Amino acid sequence: SPRTIRVDLAGRAYDIAIGPGLIDRAGELSRPLLAAPRVTIVSDDTVEPIYGARLAASFERAGVKTETVTVPAGESSKDFASFGRLLNELLDRRPDRKTTLVALGGGVVGDLTGFAAAVLLRGVDFIQVPTTLLAQVDSSVGGKTGINTRHGKNLVGAFYQPRFVLADTTVLDTLPRRELLAGYAEVAKYGLIDDPEFFTWCEANGDKVLAGDAAARTYAIEQSCLSKARIVAADERETTDLRALLNLGHTFGHALEAETGFGGALLHGEAVGAGMAMAFDLSARLGLCPQADAERVRRHLGSVGLPVRLRTIGGDNSRTWDAAKLIEHMRGDKKAEGGKLTFVLARGIGKSFVTRDVDEAGLRGLLDDAI
Ligand code: NAD
Ligand code: ZN
Repeated sequence: SPRTIRVDLAGRAYDIAIGPGLIDRAGELSRPLLAAPRVTIVSDDTVEPIYGARLAASFERAGVKTETVTVPAGESSKDFASFGRLLNELLDRRPDRKTTLVALGGGVVGDLTGFAAAVLLRGVDFIQVPTTLLAQVDSSVGGKTGINTRHGKNLVGAFYQPRFVLADTTVLDTLPRRELLAGYAEVAKYGLIDDPEFFTWCEANGDKVLAGDAAARTYAIEQSCLSKARIVAADERETTDLRALLNLGHTFGHALEAETGFGGALLHGEAVGAGMAMAFDLSARLGLCPQADAERVRRHLGSVGLPVRLRTIGGDNSRTWDAAKLIEHMRGDKKAEGGKLTFVLARGIGKSFVTRDVDEAGLRGLLDDAI
């Protein structure tokens, strides 16, 4: 039987079921939550051919009528035009308020479907079947849904909680290795933020998670979702710095992503992995964190196969970076409040904190050395 954890945010509680083979039990497990025995599955054109029929069959076995809408795979499906097309395709199928949308795919499909559910007929239920590790450990908790605009990513959206999340650990077997690793960076992040035992567990079991061990995957996803839910619950309205801890590695990471043009040269999770190594290096450099801890972070992320050295990022071993440009990107980051850079630094593994006073000389020094 699957592991189930309960997330209770914004007065809306829902379960996340985690385990192998759940896609084939989705109908049976979701049926009691459906307002009516009909769902519309939304997926992308990579995931749908692999898992669409199995998911639909599982609903049909539970007496639930299904329809499917497919969008092109990739981030561009989160733009306004694609969102408009999706809403019209959903409306073509004559939904009513009791229709439930089922998001089958990664974070793109999850964000898009969640936002569609929030506005379709002024709100219908939605269920998530996340198929990337990133979506299972990050976007399935917190209720953020939305799309991109020419002003930036995720600037239009809604907080809208799913009714249920089914994280099938075996669907990750078909995920490209790079995507799997990118998601793993966010898993390790939860240990580095405030759970040193979990990071130690990751050091011992990360390879099993990546190799497909069902128990290790279930545990990693469960602990990640519990961590994110705990941090989000402590700061639901983003009024304190607590929630910002989830951005560990992200100020550096976004700068690396921006500099590589968001074009897939560097996946978000890869950038976050390198960014976390940089955040720990900077912490050690500033005398805040033992050097040995910074080395542990770099060693573990590097050993599972994440690119943690700036030179190796984006393919070959000779990439060069411009420190001034990276700092400029950090300033342009939406988390830069009043021109001050916001960083998550650490006093050690599992001891991260938010700060706005990192002096530029220290940052320059770190970047110059790293490049
Ligand atoms: P994605 O959804 O683009 O999936 C990555 C690629 O893997 C896609 O090509 C997809 O078709 C393919 N794929 C997915 N599952 C597969 C499987 N099981 N087998 C084979 N191929 C598969 O990317 P992602 O990394 O899952 O998500 C990134 C998105 O998530 C971004 O848009 C980001 O803004 C969003 N996000 C949202 C939140 C949130 O809180 N809502 C949090 C983090 C990220
Ligand atoms: Zn992230």
